[in-house]
Amino acid sequence: QAKEAGRNVYRVFTSDMEITAQQQFHYEAALTNAIKNDEFFLQYQPKVSCETNEIVGFEALIRWQHPTYGLISPAEFIPIIEKSNLIIEVGEWVLSETTRQLAEWRQQGLPLLPIAVNISGRHLHDQSLVPFVERITQKYAIRSDLLELEITEGVLTGNTEQSIAAMKELKETHIKLSIDDFGTGYSSLSYLKKFPIDILKIDRSFIGECDSRNDDAAICTAIITLAKSLGLQIVAEGVETAAQLAFLKQHECDVYQGFYFSRAVAAEQIPTLLASVTAETTASLAD
Ligand code: C2E
Ligand code: MG
Ligand code: MG
Ligand code: MG
Repeated sequence: QAKEAGRNVYRVFTSDMEITAQQQFHYEAALTNAIKNDEFFLQYQPKVSCETNEIVGFEALIRWQHPTYGLISPAEFIPIIEKSNLIIEVGEWVLSETTRQLAEWRQQGLPLLPIAVNISGRHLHDQSLVPFVERITQKYAIRSDLLELEITEGVLTGNTEQSIAAMKELKETHIKLSIDDFGTGYSSLSYLKKFPIDILKIDRSFIGECDSRNDDAAICTAIITLAKSLGLQIVAEGVETAAQLAFLKQHECDVYQGFYFSRAVAAEQIPTLLASVTAETTASLAD
């Protein structure tokens, strides 16, 4: 876990098992201030077409720049705020910031590509979510199908009926829904046909060695085949090497994300990134 948090990211908090009630209180106070003091920001990781190598969308990933602790990874603070309604406040901030960003990019004349936002179980199951999505998409005049909500498979294994109801309501707003970290949550495959989802994201733990281990290769191809036969778009996460990408292309995965193409970057870098990819594609077509 500490390794996953990445370089330049301090581990301020211990694993949530070790957090005492007093510490939880302390962190919640710091996180409440974080919203007020504007300490959160988003980075955007491109989602890329396996077929055309073009950017087809982004995933918004939250970061916390604490004035004294420095940059804190969402893997550390999201589990803490998920225990309270703070996660709804933070989730609303992420949703409105991404929608505002889409409006800004439109203003700048950039192509409007969908942005995926991670949403916690508590927020998914909260009655405020649907009206909130309707409100912000209207406020910024953004089509709601430009927003995707990523829900981890783990969330869906708990309150299945409640989740299906919440997802059906969301679908009525035309928002896109995806299952994140697929393959890690022990959900029954039969639920896949009950969830009104559009996208399935293969967890990066299967991608890491998909080109070198028979078992991971078998799992990836099975998930790709399953998703396609259910009419879902399939996204591979955590693609770091050319060999992994070659494997995914060969097995007709639709979309990939990963350090091989780009890490998550600041919003200001997106116009340059889009322009450089377009230039490359044009150049390779001219060859
Ligand atoms: P996730 O939604 O599965 O996001 C993918 C994570 O994998 C991101 O970590 C991303 O930076 C990282 N990643 C992407 N490509 C690669 C790669 O090629 N190699 C490796 N090793 N890692 C890669 P990040 O940004 O630290 O986020 C961790 C998790 O925190 C996310 O996992 C998501 O569950 C949660 N999270 C992030 N932002 C939000 C948010 O706004 N709201 C909520 N509720 N959760 C969030
Ligand atoms: Mg995600
Ligand atoms: Mg994921
Ligand atoms: Mg993941």
